[in-house]
Amino acid sequence: MMRWFRPDRYFSSVYDIDFEAEYGTGFRGLIFDIDNTLVPQNAPIDDRARDFLKDLHRIGFQVTLVSNNGIERVEEFSRGTDALWVHNAAKPSRKAYRRAMSLMHTDTENTLFIGDQVLTDIFGARRAHVPNILVDPLDPETDTKLIRFKRALEKLFHRPPKSRPKKASFRKKA
Ligand SMILES: [Mg+2]
Repeated sequence: MMRWFRPDRYFSSVYDIDFEAEYGTGFRGLIFDIDNTLVPQNAPIDDRARDFLKDLHRIGFQVTLVSNNGIERVEEFSRGTDALWVHNAAKPSRKAYRRAMSLMHTDTENTLFIGDQVLTDIFGARRAHVPNILVDPLDPETDTKLIRFKRALEKLFHRPPKSRPKKASFRKKA
């Protein structure tokens, strides 16, 4: 049961991930949560997020923003960045993840999801079988009361240590 809430990998920030390396391993489509993943909760798009999204396109990725927020919020982020979007996503529903993949013509083999909440973002990605990365919220002070409550629940699920090289062996030492 716990596996549904366990991210594949963890980074402290979306801006710390080496996306050229991710492209190198075969990922072609990226799905991002917006609030507290790309910018603080309800903050307008900033230069860092805009340049970041443009750089991803330059690398060769397709990008879809999937948000439980309304259309104005996601449109603001797609304007000038060429990012595709799914609004009112109702994460952890699987639908929005599937819609994002169909928009990008990608699949669960070459799509990567990145978000800051375990109970919505990661749970949804797991249910849709999309490889996923959990990041720390950019600014936890901007969390709404509901999100704070969910984060308190998330603490029940231990956050894994930073991802290790794949060669790490789980075999017991003799
Ligand atoms: Mg978020």
